[in-house]
Amino acid sequence: MHEFLKTDQLGHIINQVNDEISMLKNALNEPINKNVESNVLADILDRAALEEERKQQYISRYRKGLQLKALQRVKFRLQKEPGEYGYCETCGIEIQFKRLVTVPTAENCCDCQSIIEVQNRYKCRRTIIMKLDNKY
Ligand SMILES: [Zn+2]
Repeated sequence: MHEFLKTDQLGHIINQVNDEISMLKNALNEPINKNVESNVLADILDRAALEEERKQQYISRYRKGLQLKALQRVKFRLQKEPGEYGYCETCGIEIQFKRLVTVPTAENCCDCQSIIEVQNRYKCRRTIIMKLDNKY
């Protein structure tokens, strides 16, 4: 029994996680377009466009792989310790059901996530400024 998520809400999230896992597994089983040989496309721009498309496919696949691992961790957690699921790892409050439905892998409430994103943006800008200071 979960403290704040009702049984049907928890079931909804579990179903969603399972659906997303199978969609990602199907997507990851699709082959990447490798079948064009370099001399088939005489135009160098066509080849460059194809290479770019292939690169995007690899990046997309990598991200889907990360998402799959995150969802599998959530699934494992929901099976082993469902009562622990849905609490913000930063402040400990309940994460809203709407947020968990939208992002089942959410580890933080909206407020904490916003703060983390602002901090990350600040760190990123600061790193760029430090690099520029060292350069000039
Ligand atoms: Zn929080």
